[in-house]
Amino acid sequence: MVVGGSLGGLAAGISLREAGWEAEVFERSRGELEGRGAGIVVQPELLRFLEERGVPRGEVGVAAEARQYLDGDGRVARVESRQQLMTSWGKAYGHLRALFPEERYHQGKEFTGFERNNEGLVASFDGNIEESCDLLVGADGTHSACRRLLLPGAVPEYAGYVAWRGLVEERSLGPSLARTFSERFTFFLGKNTQILCYLIPGPSGELAQGERLLNWVWYWNVPEGDALREVLTDRDGKAHDHSVPQGRVREDLTEHQKAIAGEVLPDAFGRLVAETDEPFVQVIHDLAVPRMAFGRACLVGDAAFVPRPHTAASTAKAVTNATALAESLSFYRDDVAAALKAWEPAQLRLGRRLEEHGRALGDGSQFGR
Ligand SMILES: Cc1cc2nc3c(=O)[nH]c(=O)nc-3n(C[C@H](O)[C@H](O)[C@H](O)COP(=O)(O)OP(=O)(O)OC[C@H]3O[C@@H](n4cnc5c(N)ncnc54)[C@H](O)[C@@H]3O)c2cc1C
Repeated sequence: MVVGGSLGGLAAGISLREAGWEAEVFERSRGELEGRGAGIVVQPELLRFLEERGVPRGEVGVAAEARQYLDGDGRVARVESRQQLMTSWGKAYGHLRALFPEERYHQGKEFTGFERNNEGLVASFDGNIEESCDLLVGADGTHSACRRLLLPGAVPEYAGYVAWRGLVEERSLGPSLARTFSERFTFFLGKNTQILCYLIPGPSGELAQGERLLNWVWYWNVPEGDALREVLTDRDGKAHDHSVPQGRVREDLTEHQKAIAGEVLPDAFGRLVAETDEPFVQVIHDLAVPRMAFGRACLVGDAAFVPRPHTAASTAKAVTNATALAESLSFYRDDVAAALKAWEPAQLRLGRRLEEHGRALGDGSQFGR
């Protein structure tokens, strides 16, 4: 049984079924999961996972031909020729959903607890519905309910900054912004701030030129306490814990942030932010667990480690957790606990390495540490 039906949960479900397990995915959200993220840099692990299952590279995302760094005056200070594939959360999710049987994907099922018995585990959903299983895979993200039960002390910590994010239709870009940003992965590293942007597939996965979206991410320091609470209070006065979605960010805060963009960012980025209809906000967290295997239960993906997004590696990490888990279970077959125990050390090392790398990158760019 897999709890959480996002990229990590689907990768686990697909890998486990291929290894001969009757994997079922239980996802809390009732409706479309679309639109919850925006851009995702495609790392080799995700690309390989999709290609090996018949998704052609050209269908995975949009290629950026080079990385470029703008200086404060907006001039291109440095170009690195480096091809990179970019996609959207929705596009990656669509490919993974198509690889997993529809009837095994259960939406509107919120995992609320589990008990161990002699045969295995019994998980409960929505406080009452019970499902038995031999293996529980917690793929329920940064604020995982599985982790709360397995490791109550492991909670995400605020990193001291948020990501303001936005999407702009490629076709709406004027010629000068299109010239600056098209086909490039563009960065500006300012004093205690960083912004980047790249093209991603359109809202329904479109890959053709003109139908894509420009995705930007702007890391901005916000002190914990009142200032953070203000950013996370939406236009109806509702307080959010981790993100304020598109269309919900207070208009006065958006206007204020756009004014700051005009002051601290190079002109092209300032105009890009100004032209964004509904920017949204995500809080940046750190999370590292000391364990991922607990007898017949385990944690994968963001439920276990949340490296800062500068690493652009969370989805690849979730895929690696999932494929390695299926391999270990194939090897140990009837002994789930032994399979999980053997799987855990390399996954902990991977998570720690990314978590430390992300902290170093983020603390460097945001706080000069
Ligand atoms: C809002 C959001 C935006 C993101 N944007 C980006 C991005 O733009 N770029 C990028 O690289 N990465 C992004 N990520 C992270 C990226 O999607 C993850 O690293 C990747 O999907 C692997 O994470 P995951 O599947 O482990 O966890 P998540 O993607 O967080 O998925 C966890 C899933 O578990 C479900 N869930 C939670 N609790 C329960 C419960 N009790 N019972 C059942 N289901 C539950 C959630 O609804 C969710 O679908 C985003 C994640 C989120 C949540």
